[in-house]
Amino acid sequence: MSDATSKAIDRAMGALVGGALGDALGMPTQLLSPVRIAELYGHVEDFIEPFPDHPVSKGLAAGTITDDTEQALLLGRILVESGDRFDHARWVNALLDWEREVKARGSYDLLGPSTKRAIDAINNGVPAEEAGRSGDTNGAAMRIAPVGIMMPLEPLEGFVGKVAETCRATHNTSIAIASAAAVAAAVSRGVAGGGWRDASASAVAAARRGATLGHWVTGGDIAARIVWAQDIVHGKAIRDAIRLITDLVGTGVASQESVPAAFAVLEVARGDPWQAAVISANLGGDTDTIGAIAAGMAGACSGFSRLPQQHIARLVGLDMSEVRALAADLVAARMAKIGSGKDAAE
Ligand SMILES: [Mg+2]
Repeated sequence: MSDATSKAIDRAMGALVGGALGDALGMPTQLLSPVRIAELYGHVEDFIEPFPDHPVSKGLAAGTITDDTEQALLLGRILVESGDRFDHARWVNALLDWEREVKARGSYDLLGPSTKRAIDAINNGVPAEEAGRSGDTNGAAMRIAPVGIMMPLEPLEGFVGKVAETCRATHNTSIAIASAAAVAAAVSRGVAGGGWRDASASAVAAARRGATLGHWVTGGDIAARIVWAQDIVHGKAIRDAIRLITDLVGTGVASQESVPAAFAVLEVARGDPWQAAVISANLGGDTDTIGAIAAGMAGACSGFSRLPQQHIARLVGLDMSEVRALAADLVAARMAKIGSGKDAAE
């Protein structure tokens, strides 16, 4: 294996496992207000069990990953199996199988609103091309990291086109594609050797392009909101930054809230994956998804070898050999696209 390939695999693992850390840390705090989080748990800095009546996370052990990580791994596998043309039917069936399996496990954390609506439409005979026409929440962005691992950023048109292709069945809207393109671009820049600031710049460029694709839906501009969200928290102390993110950026499932929030977290954490996970877990709202996105992007820019191994050892529900195999397959596909591997020398 070349040096460039092993470095890219380390970054790819950083993205996937970093995302899992953010997801699992935010699992017990998701859907709660910041005040309720403080009452129930204090300041969350380590994996904890959800309180017994948690609406979706009840019964899960501390450190358990959720839909964000599971669906990212699922999408990664479908990408590898699909080859050059993304297999929509296989993807939709995989999501349905996933939900069946999750229900059988007794989990309450099922498919999100856009994905659910799209799959219901497909089951009623709507073609995959049309099913995602109103999907504008953050489900596409939360699971997009594998696209960023597999696809080199250049040419940007091809990169964003691949993002849009994977969003089509469930999130075929300007806002969701722009959001997913931003997150995927940050991951791709990290896998290419870029730091978190480079990754943020690439994200903004990709979001601008992504916003021109899919069905237009109303909502704040993703690229502009990422720049603004990072700007308002720049140089702020963590507690003040958390306040700005919850009060102004927003932490809901709307893409135009949670995705810029994840970039603001990346800024406050200065690219540190565990710090990004901790900040996200205390935000309230869609903490696990914001954490998965922020810590995943940070992990792509730092690499697996710089993630906190003591926390990784306590993750529940993540098969590390599966993650390693997927990272290797996605990086192999990436290297085949860029030929000599010059991208990794950035
Ligand atoms: Mg989740």
